[in-house]
Amino acid sequence: MHKKRYIAGALCPQCQQRDKVYVYLEGDEKWRACNRCDFNEPFDQTDNRKPEELVTRVNQSRLGEKPLAHEVAVETVKLIDPNKQT
Ligand SMILES: [Zn+2]
Repeated sequence: MHKKRYIAGALCPQCQQRDKVYVYLEGDEKWRACNRCDFNEPFDQTDNRKPEELVTRVNQSRLGEKPLAHEVAVETVKLIDPNKQT
């Protein structure tokens, strides 16, 4: 059911094996897992954009409150998923 896509050259943070980490979709969520160990965690695609948002928030404290609600919603999803999808 899952479409696995291996990340070339990616190092598993858990078992340190190269080219064993793949990305798959769980609903709308992107997950990262390893086929050698049981490493499995949400793949945060927005990682690169976070620094920009932080800068924006500092500059405009008023607008910063709206993105915050966004982040809370995302974190809630992340908290549910790690419980395990079999
Ligand atoms: Zn691994």
